[in-house]
Amino acid sequence: MPREIPLPPYDIAELVPEFANLARDTVLLYPRSGEPGVHHSSMGGPLLWPADEPWPYCAQPGHWAFGTGGGSGASKPGAVPLVPVIQLFARDVPWLEFPPGKDVVQLLWCALIHDNDPAGAVLPKLYWRSEAETVAAGLTYDVPAPRAGEYEEDFVPRPCTVCPTPVVEYPGYDLPDGLLTELRPRLEALEDRFGCHYTEVASALQNKVGGYPAWNQRPNWPHCEQGHRMEHLFSVTGEPAYGRWLPLDDHEPGTTPPKWDAPAAPDVLESIGPDLEIGDAGGMYVFLCRQCPDLPYTHRYDC
Ligand SMILES: [Zn+2]
Ligand SMILES: [Zn+2]
Repeated sequence: MPREIPLPPYDIAELVPEFANLARDTVLLYPRSGEPGVHHSSMGGPLLWPADEPWPYCAQPGHWAFGTGGGSGASKPGAVPLVPVIQLFARDVPWLEFPPGKDVVQLLWCALIHDNDPAGAVLPKLYWRSEAETVAAGLTYDVPAPRAGEYEEDFVPRPCTVCPTPVVEYPGYDLPDGLLTELRPRLEALEDRFGCHYTEVASALQNKVGGYPAWNQRPNWPHCEQGHRMEHLFSVTGEPAYGRWLPLDDHEPGTTPPKWDAPAAPDVLESIGPDLEIGDAGGMYVFLCRQCPDLPYTHRYDC
């Protein structure tokens, strides 16, 4: 069930019509710590994995973890199992287009630091599956996990349930420079009037599917090898426990009507988010090209 979120302090597309054309549909995931099963959409949860398919490993020479004996010289020899990051079933995200015949998407990565990778940090792997075919082939529950010291703790999401929720968002860092310059006086007037920066109203900087990446720094949109600009598929990042997109029933009780920027209630605070720390409040962004038949994907990282 989608979460119910408060009304924003103002409608940015109404007060600044230039934003209207830049609206994008996004699905917020709202990860909350829990015990998802293999048949559930999740972050950091167990994956629906066919018994006849070997679990993926990363063997990049020199990948390493903080606090395991030093800097980039402290590499992990041999191959390290990838960890589950996202699993989504089409029934939970009807807003996401799946390739024909597929109704499950899975994202895994190596939870080590990869100095050799120009995009930095983890190396994501993406899988599209058919739930029925995977179940028919038999499932494996015996999944290898990285051993202590074999992973970067901040890169391993804790098991979370998700509540995919469709919203409309507008660009933050993706607002073109020229337009930002043109709009700045009006955006500053809005900030004075409502007491919040326009990006707090426009952008969802959290775990999501589609829409604008939750950039924490300058955008860096990738192109596939055929030169197509790729589309944003997933943002994996820290999950805010406050602000415009915090569901109403996560709010601290007592304010009537609920304020859009009420903080989270103390008893839900601990459950919010996959407990990832990617750089300093940064994120990992996965991109897909649907114009190429083999659906190439890549990632970007900011910190
Ligand atoms: Zn690795
Ligand atoms: Zn392409």
